[in-house]
Amino acid sequence: DTSVRASLPWRWPRSVMEAPMSLEERRVVTRLSTPIDFDDDGKQCDFIRLPHSVHRSAYGYLPIPLVCIKNGDGPTVLLMSGNHGDEYEGQVTLSKLCQTLEPADINGRVIILPMANYPAALAGLRTSPIDGGNLNRSFPGQPDGTVTQQIAYYIQSELMERADYMLDLHSGGSSLDYVPSAILGGDLATETFARRLAMAEAFGAPFTFIFPAGPPSGVASESAVERSTLAFGTEMAGSGTVTPAALRICERGVRNVLAHLGVLDQSAYEAPETPTRLVRASDMKFFSYAPEVGLFEPVVELGDIVQAGQLAGRVHTPETPWRAPSEVRFEADGFVVCKRIPGRVERGDCVFHLGADFDPDAIQ
Ligand code: ZN
Repeated sequence: DTSVRASLPWRWPRSVMEAPMSLEERRVVTRLSTPIDFDDDGKQCDFIRLPHSVHRSAYGYLPIPLVCIKNGDGPTVLLMSGNHGDEYEGQVTLSKLCQTLEPADINGRVIILPMANYPAALAGLRTSPIDGGNLNRSFPGQPDGTVTQQIAYYIQSELMERADYMLDLHSGGSSLDYVPSAILGGDLATETFARRLAMAEAFGAPFTFIFPAGPPSGVASESAVERSTLAFGTEMAGSGTVTPAALRICERGVRNVLAHLGVLDQSAYEAPETPTRLVRASDMKFFSYAPEVGLFEPVVELGDIVQAGQLAGRVHTPETPWRAPSEVRFEADGFVVCKRIPGRVERGDCVFHLGADFDPDAIQ
């Protein structure tokens, strides 16, 4: 039964009714709950309920859609999109999957969270209109924090905790356009890095991006990897819209990863036209920024090959049109993998980001 079971009583992940709990114990229990029983075989479509007491609804909750499909004891894969609400390719891909994927198709368990930051996704915004929170900078979250922090905590403690693998579908959103890419960061020397890279290569995007490990950033896939969930992310185009070309790559990629992990039959794997090209962005020299407020004139396009010192664009000030524009120059050799979309810029806005070929022999 895939109908919404809104009338059923829901349960907390760890029921406060089952055993007396100290205040300390209760402080680390998520406030979010769902009627879905993750141990049940079959297909369950329902909501995570986030208690949200506001003027117009004193006992209300935010309904975050969730689908759990289980068949036997195979691996668990968490598929997530809408972590940033204005990134749409993943939300379309996972909505279609919620409609088409059935228990008989799979071996194991697929947990699908298409609108992870539900308030942001509903508003078509990167961040939450409720608290301004950026979910993908909020992990591992807090059980008693803001709405966004509570969502992060639930995903980390209840969903990642159950998942052997996770795929977090992002794209450039409203302000960026990306060449469709798989993305993974972290320590190249670990055994799990090779397995994560194999997952990302199975996804089969035109590019697979590798970032070096940095300080903790609150990113979901980083938090998952710290908890032994093998994870990677994507950047599937963007510009605040959906293109058929990027959507095809995204839909094929999700099925390919499920087939790679043995959750779908091997016959579901569809080889991409060209193997993914491994690229890296080793440091901040691969990122170009607007030096001041104004109107940005780019002089290169996505995919262009550029060199350090080459002109990237100009920042004009049409409010003082007789003033000469300031120049933005690239600081590394590479090719353009990401560009800014809105024309108006402020100092500190990223206008381009480059990639350079990655040598897989570096992973030893
Ligand atoms: Zn994103």
